[in-house]
Amino acid sequence: MTYCGDRKQLKIAIIGAGPAGLGTAIELAKLPFIQWDLYEKRSNLSEIGGGFTLQPQTWRILEHNGVAKDLCAQDYYRSAEGLVEQRRNGRTGELLIEKCNPEDVPASRHSCRLARAKLQRAMMNSVDESHIYLSKRLVDFEHLPDNRVRILIEDGTIDDVDLLIAADGIRSLIRKTCFPQHTLRFNGQFVYRTIVSQDEASKIEGIPWAPVFWKHVSGLYVFTCPLGDNDFEVTARIRRPAGHQEPVSWGRPVDLEGVLPEYDDFCPPVREILRLAARGDTQEFALHSGPRLDHVVHHGNIAFIGDASHALLGNFGSGAGFALEDVFALTRVIQWAWMRGKQLVDALSLFDSIRSPHYGRLYQTIDKFANIKAALRTEGLLINDEIAERVRRISLASESWMFYYDIDKAVEKVLQDTNATNAGSETAETPQRAISSEGNCLGQLDQTVTDTREPYGMGFSV
Ligand SMILES: Cc1cc2nc3c(=O)[nH]c(=O)nc-3n(C[C@H](O)[C@H](O)[C@H](O)COP(=O)(O)OP(=O)(O)OC[C@H]3O[C@@H](n4cnc5c(N)ncnc54)[C@H](O)[C@@H]3O)c2cc1C
Repeated sequence: MTYCGDRKQLKIAIIGAGPAGLGTAIELAKLPFIQWDLYEKRSNLSEIGGGFTLQPQTWRILEHNGVAKDLCAQDYYRSAEGLVEQRRNGRTGELLIEKCNPEDVPASRHSCRLARAKLQRAMMNSVDESHIYLSKRLVDFEHLPDNRVRILIEDGTIDDVDLLIAADGIRSLIRKTCFPQHTLRFNGQFVYRTIVSQDEASKIEGIPWAPVFWKHVSGLYVFTCPLGDNDFEVTARIRRPAGHQEPVSWGRPVDLEGVLPEYDDFCPPVREILRLAARGDTQEFALHSGPRLDHVVHHGNIAFIGDASHALLGNFGSGAGFALEDVFALTRVIQWAWMRGKQLVDALSLFDSIRSPHYGRLYQTIDKFANIKAALRTEGLLINDEIAERVRRISLASESWMFYYDIDKAVEKVLQDTNATNAGSETAETPQRAISSEGNCLGQLDQTVTDTREPYGMGFSV
C-alpha cells in the first residue's frame, strides 16, 4: 500500500471553499484516517451570487451530510403546490408551461430556492473551521518523486499532500495547469443578479409568487422568485457581443439602470420589478463555459470536483448538487480503498469512472438544447411564436434524470462490481483480513470506521 506509506494519515489539501470544498471538508472530517486542510483565496467566506435552487438530488445529499438540519423552512421558498417553475412569455406575461415535482419525490426534497449565503451558513455549521485557511491563494503545485503533490500558496506557505482536491471553481487554476488544452470561452452572456425585499416585490401586480422565467428570444430573460425570509430574487440575462477583450467580471457590482433599456419590450410587471432591482445592489456575471474534461482525475493524486471538474456554467441550476455528488463519490471511494488496502490511484480511477460519464450525459443534453435553439433561429418565426416554440421544444427535449439521480446507488454499484471482480481475481480473503495483511495501515485504522456498503439512505454512518 503505497499511498499511506509510513505516514500516519492520508494527507489531503482542498483548494476552494465553495459548496464543493466545504462539502468535502464535512465528509473528510468523518474519516479518522484523513488529515485535511482547506485553502481559500478570499479573505472571508461571505457569499456572492444571489439565489440558488436546491434540487431533489441536492436535498438528498444535504440530508446525508447533515446540512439539511441547519436549513429551516423560513430560509428558503418552496411552492406548497409542488411547482418547480413557470415559463412565461416575457413580452405578454402569458403562461407557456409549468413544471411540477414528480409525485414520488417526497415533499421534503421538493426543489426550493434560497440565497446562496444561507446554504453556505448551513454548511459552515458542519465544518471544522480550524482547518480552513483564508487569504490563501494557490499559485502553483508540483508532483514530488514520492507520488505526493507540493502545493504553493501565494504567501509562501508550502504543503506536501497525498491528494490535492481541486474545488477551485469554474476558473480553476489546477484544471488549467493539468489540462492546458482545456480553455474557457465567454459565451456572450451576462447575468445580473439582485435581491430585493419581498415587501416591495409583493406590491408589484402581476408578479407570481413562484419561480418564473420570463422568456424572450436570443437568450434574453428575466427570472423572478421569492427566496427565504424577506428576500426576493430578480435575475436578468442578456446576450452581448464580446468586446476586444473577453470580459472577466464575476460578481462585480454594477448599476442595473444602464441595462434597463434592453428590457423595454418586456411586459409591465417585469419592467417594474427590474426598476425595483435597479435601486438595489446588483452583481454582474460574465458567463464562461468550456468543453468536457475526458477525466476528472490527474496523475493519480489530483481529483477535480464541482465547477473545477466541469465548466457547465450554471446550466441545470444544480451546480451545488453536482458538486456534492462529486464529494460523496470521492470520499466514498477513498474510504473503500483505505478499508481494502488499495492505492489512492485505484480510488481515483473509480471516482473517474463514476463521474466522467455523468458529466458526459449532461454535456450531451446541453448540446441537444443548443441544436434546438440554433434550428429555431433559422426559421424566421414571429417573436411571440419563437418564444412559445422555444419553450415548447426545449420542454419536450428536456431531461430531468439529473435532478433525481441517486449518487449513492451509482457508487454502490461500482463498488460492488469492483468487489466482485476483485473477489474473482484474489484469494477469498475477507476485506478486513485484506487490510490486516497490509501491516502498516491496520494500526492507523480507527476501529470506529465501519465498512458500510448500504446506500446512505439506509443509514450511512462513519
Ligand atoms: C448565474 C448562475 C446561476 C447559478 N444557479 C445555480 C442554482 O440555482 N443552483 C445551483 O446548485 N447552482 C447554481 N449555479 C452553479 C453554482 O454556483 C456552482 O455550480 C457552484 O457554486 C459550484 O461550487 P464550487 O465549490 O465548485 O465552486 P465555487 O462556488 O466557484 O467555489 C470555488 C472557490 O474556490 C476559490 N478559489 C478559486 N481559485 C482559488 C485559488 N487559486 N486558491 C484558493 N482558492 C481559490 C474561490 O474563491 C471560491 O471560493 C449557478 C451558477 C451561475 C453562474
